[in-house]
Amino acid sequence: MITKNLAGIGMTSQRTRSRLIQRLRDKGIISEQVLSVMERTPRHIFIDEALSHRAYEDSSLPIGMGQTISQPYIVARMTELLVMSGKMNDVLEVGTGCGYQTSILAGVSRRVYTIERIKPLQKQAIKRFKALNLHNVTYQHGDGYLGWADQAPFDAIIVTAAPEQVPAPLIEQLAIGGRMVIPVTSANGDQQLHLLEKSDEGISSMKVEDVKFVPLLGGIVE
Ligand code: SAH
Repeated sequence: MITKNLAGIGMTSQRTRSRLIQRLRDKGIISEQVLSVMERTPRHIFIDEALSHRAYEDSSLPIGMGQTISQPYIVARMTELLVMSGKMNDVLEVGTGCGYQTSILAGVSRRVYTIERIKPLQKQAIKRFKALNLHNVTYQHGDGYLGWADQAPFDAIIVTAAPEQVPAPLIEQLAIGGRMVIPVTSANGDQQLHLLEKSDEGISSMKVEDVKFVPLLGGIVE
């Protein structure tokens, strides 16, 4: 079913997708590498068919189990922050969700390790990785708060759900020269995207922009 719909027609066609790419440029996305992967990745296969006519709007959409697929601008921005700041050999993603962000990362890195705590979402994401023939994605059903110690260190870490504090295991699992993009919820409930970088001297951190992500939760759901 997914394979049949890969190319898309009408509201899911390549032309509609290319218009989204132009909107991302207008909003300030400059990485050609990121834009070109997003231009060739069919976002409509990551959402329910009933919503597929909205796949190329620049908005987040529900994917079931109370979760969302991120807004394309945010996917582009987070990916660009990592791509433009250093190596992308081994990349960790926390929060596979529908697998869209994972698929964009797969196009700009050597290997992506992705963790999801909700099994049914992970199962659907795996089907999509297969339909898209992605051979550089390794996945785990688990609690991403703990990172993936066996595969560390990572050149880049992306977290697509918001904690109140950056999880210590993730900082630990960054390589020297490694970067992390992560939304963090502050005491008043606002969320901001942070870009962290690890060097010999320690961790530097800067706030990038306001965002709205689902919360990072502990434990797993079968
Ligand atoms: N990356 C997705 C966004 C998914 S929404 C995209 O491309 O659009 C965030 C996801 O993070 C949800 O699927 C949620 O279940 C997952 N999540 C939340 N807390 C988590 C945790 N501790 N470990 C792993 N996944 C988590």
